[in-house]
Amino acid sequence: MVKLAKLYFDITHNKDKLGTVGHPEAEYLGVTLAAGPDGTNCFASAIVRESGKQMSCFWQFESPIGPTDEVRIVHTSGGTVLPPSRRFEMGRAARQDWSDSTCDFCHQDATQAARLFPGDASRPTICSECVETRYRALHEIERDGNAADSNC
Ligand SMILES: [Zn+2]
Repeated sequence: MVKLAKLYFDITHNKDKLGTVGHPEAEYLGVTLAAGPDGTNCFASAIVRESGKQMSCFWQFESPIGPTDEVRIVHTSGGTVLPPSRRFEMGRAARQDWSDSTCDFCHQDATQAARLFPGDASRPTICSECVETRYRALHEIERDGNAADSNC
């Protein structure tokens, strides 16, 4: 039997409150600062129970975290929780995305993009346009590479 608890964190970036994340029936709640070549952002994720189903929730904060910025994570007893940016049922082969997801590259949603390929914990969501753009870019690089070779 999995133990569930009320888990909430208040997240503050410098003096701005980003919001409260959490759930009344959570198995896990984590807040991450993720840094990459494009900058640093804050994410939160939770594994929760809703109507007997194990759900995964993600919160993504758009405000970029500067090099000397302070992020405060305070364990609280509750509050007005931000709606997760992504939410899906866990343990399904064909994973069902319950949220209005958007492309992680161009931020188009399902109504704007021709097709949206939902991501999961380890893969980003991508739309068909972004797949095409990157596919073309990849082949241009390969073609340019071949052209350079043939010039030698
Ligand atoms: Zn896109």
